[in-house]
Amino acid sequence: MTDLLARHRAVLPSWMPLYYDEPIELVSGSGRRVTDAQGRSYLDFFGGVLTNMVGYDIPEIREAVQRQLATGIVHSSTLYLIRQQVELAEKVARVSGIPDARVFFTNSGTEANEAALLVATNYRRSHQILAVRNSYHGRSYAAMGVTGNRSWSASALNPLQVAWLHSGERVRGLLARLGPDEQVDAAVEDLREVLATQTAGDVACLIAEPIQGVGGFVHPPDGLFAAWKKVLDESGILFVSDEVQTGWGRTGEHFWGYQAHGVTPDLLTFAKGIGNGFALAGVVGRADVLESVPAISFSTFGGNPISTAAGNAVLDYLLDHDLQANAARVGAILADGLRSAVGGLDCVAEVRGKGLMLGVEFVRPGTTEPDPAMTVRVFEACRAGGLLAGKGGLYGNVLRMGPPLTLTEEEAREGLAILVDAIRSSAEAGA
Ligand code: PLP
Repeated sequence: MTDLLARHRAVLPSWMPLYYDEPIELVSGSGRRVTDAQGRSYLDFFGGVLTNMVGYDIPEIREAVQRQLATGIVHSSTLYLIRQQVELAEKVARVSGIPDARVFFTNSGTEANEAALLVATNYRRSHQILAVRNSYHGRSYAAMGVTGNRSWSASALNPLQVAWLHSGERVRGLLARLGPDEQVDAAVEDLREVLATQTAGDVACLIAEPIQGVGGFVHPPDGLFAAWKKVLDESGILFVSDEVQTGWGRTGEHFWGYQAHGVTPDLLTFAKGIGNGFALAGVVGRADVLESVPAISFSTFGGNPISTAAGNAVLDYLLDHDLQANAARVGAILADGLRSAVGGLDCVAEVRGKGLMLGVEFVRPGTTEPDPAMTVRVFEACRAGGLLAGKGGLYGNVLRMGPPLTLTEEEAREGLAILVDAIRSSAEAGA
């Protein structure tokens, strides 16, 4: 055990997980590659849980932050005007697709969801919330309350009144047996039934991820959110799209995950990639909803000049280089390559995802029984081969790939070869 690992274990809580049998310390990065303290280089196919969206050490972002640092002000207070905050809010409002939107910046996705729930419950004068099974929305008391994955829940206590909807389960569960159209119909029926049997109709909002990130990159059939929204609109229930993982063009086909559904959310939460490593998140939404909070409220650090300088540079870079198109193109190489090389193995239930948000779900050969041990073998083999990936899913049996959106075709092919080797050798080792 390294000295740093021993010190980590001695002082940080044991429920904070560390990846890998031998956890690594990253000491430098450039482009899509990172180097650990032992000098080993890795192609980063996870971007630190989709946190690094445009690559490591990007000059435009480094220089934007350095310019702010050179002023001598890291941050003073959000009670003063902050140019970068206003500029970023204008851009986020413009790209959000929500007419006449307002933006409130926070420091994490958890806080963004917390803010959205606070606003929605206040606007609707109701504490009842609809959430989706297998979801993940953060680690605060309320965000955990709408998280539909008990392995992530720190407590069995739930401070909120939550009623749970079926997700777009694809391998097991009730809806997985249905085709996409039938799945939409069944999910709408489920929503109506939940509203009628578990609520008095006075629900504040539905919060949902267009693709469930921690849940294993599970996505419902396109169009489901629009079908749900029709029902929600009958009672004025708000729809919150948690785009913490799916935003900014990652899915390739759209800028936001919600756009696959032909619907506009009332509130949208974002985080992770927009700071490219700097702590930046927020909620963007309908002016009448966001403006409905009666109390004065601000965040000490949310929207600070360093984070928002980074955010402006990241968003400009993303749009100038049309990284959404790159995510679609390079993601297709990866998805097609994985499907043809390992999609037919009897331990692979599914290769799924969109753009550069791809997952491989592992099961015991010929069954739908989750195989987390196989996932760990693949995960460790990828690392040994020089590639960082992620794990996830309700049962920990999904390998997740969410590389920076600047991933090149060459890097995609290099990573694909490592992945295919790791999956094949791990399948043989488990046979
Ligand atoms: N929402 C989703 C969909 C997430 O994936 C996450 C984090 O993984 C969060 C919210 C919480 O974000 P944070 O960890 O920045 O608090």
